[in-house]
Amino acid sequence: MTEVPTQSSRTTLQPQRKTPSMCQHQPQCPSAEYPDREAAHIVAHHPEQGWSLLCNGVLLFEDTGELLPDGQIIAPHRPFGTEHIVTAA
Ligand SMILES: [Zn+2]
Repeated sequence: MTEVPTQSSRTTLQPQRKTPSMCQHQPQCPSAEYPDREAAHIVAHHPEQGWSLLCNGVLLFEDTGELLPDGQIIAPHRPFGTEHIVTAA
């Protein structure tokens, strides 16, 4: 007597992996592929860890580096001149 595993009629539904557009803002936040992605609203702010999560899924670090939802890393683009060289008079 062999037991044949009966396949359950449960269809494997693939989770919908659309773009995570949870944005409820008006006007809509720029998505991660746009150069103005930093203009998106901050949905989670963790200053103690030095990063913020934007509405479009971008992780924005305090050194202005970014981690995009697709894993792309944007190098910090801190403007020059913010670090003052203190010269003792
Ligand atoms: Zn938004």
